[in-house]
Amino acid sequence: MIPFNKPYIVGSELNFIEDAIMYGLSGSGKYTELCYRFFNETYGFKDTYLTHSCTAALEMCGLLLDLKEGDEVILPSYTFTSSANAFLLRGATVKFADSTSESPNLCLKSVQESITSKTKAIVVVHYAGMSCDMHALKQIAVDNRLILIEDAAQAIDAKYDGQFLGSFGHLSTFSFHDTKNIHCGEGGLLVINDTRFIEKAGILYNYGTNKEAFISNKVDKYEWCGIGSSFMCSELNAAFLWGQLQNHKRVLEIKISIWWYYHQKIGQLNLGRKLVSVNERVQHNGHIYYLVCDSKDEREALIQHMNEKGVKAFFHYQALHNSPFFSTQYSGPKLPYAELYSDCLVRLPVYAELTQAQQDQVIDAIRTFYLN
Ligand SMILES: *Cc1c(COP(=O)(O)O)cnc(C)c1O
Repeated sequence: MIPFNKPYIVGSELNFIEDAIMYGLSGSGKYTELCYRFFNETYGFKDTYLTHSCTAALEMCGLLLDLKEGDEVILPSYTFTSSANAFLLRGATVKFADSTSESPNLCLKSVQESITSKTKAIVVVHYAGMSCDMHALKQIAVDNRLILIEDAAQAIDAKYDGQFLGSFGHLSTFSFHDTKNIHCGEGGLLVINDTRFIEKAGILYNYGTNKEAFISNKVDKYEWCGIGSSFMCSELNAAFLWGQLQNHKRVLEIKISIWWYYHQKIGQLNLGRKLVSVNERVQHNGHIYYLVCDSKDEREALIQHMNEKGVKAFFHYQALHNSPFFSTQYSGPKLPYAELYSDCLVRLPVYAELTQAQQDQVIDAIRTFYLN
């Protein structure tokens, strides 16, 4: 059976973990600092906080926005629950926007129609590591004085018009969960590109204290300065992550070549609109390869057929506005594309150790489903 995902181990992780054990394992140590330097130098981020998950980084965003009851945050319905929970936890109202016909990413028109006098922020999700239309979204945020947040959980190393994702938003988040391109089991990153948030983020991250100022000898003791929590990532995870980050280019190359192999070979099957649409402004990271079926029944039959042919394929994201939790309180517009992807999207196995022979087996399973 070809599994759906297999977390990649680059080989140096254990050595760094061993070293971390000598240095101390709580957060904000040697490896966390090494990771910060890497992120800021490689991607041009202004400031970064290593967290125990992307979910935690999104929750920090919710706290940084100082949201009050009634404040509104716009985000896609077709996303992971954490993109919404982070703001609901602060008492804000979430406004779900639709995806586009081209991709699960945010539809600009739907975003514009969701803006009211209470809107505080737009959260964009770069589905499959493929960028949203960042120039247009940034313009919408500027025109309406909104904070732009990138949930770039899937988007490490991906770019839009040559610029790294995660560097567009006032705030951005990444995930290092073991299903993502670069991982440490569980981990995440908060990126701060708007310097107004830096001081407050430091306090939030350090249990509501000015411990950062104390460590850099700016104050002689640290005290309780505001609300905060513990969002830190253990040095064990940071050491593992450091090993991965040093090999990020190799992982990226492998993922992209797997992605293009699918795209080329499945393209030759002439399945029509089932293929992902590519756009030259979007330099993705090969994180996910997906097909869009014509119906839910077709998808179920395809997944079943692939299973019988020894291939694990999955779907994900049930549109949040239709979820058991939210559907009874949802009163917004119809979101036909969010529903389309919920019902019809299929993900194929993409992981670094997937061989070309295995990919051929996946492609053959698709071929025999559609063309026999
Ligand atoms: C994976 C993912 C998350 C959650 O990441 P964790 O690190 O597991 O918290 C959030 N948003 C999106 C879009 C994701 O793909």
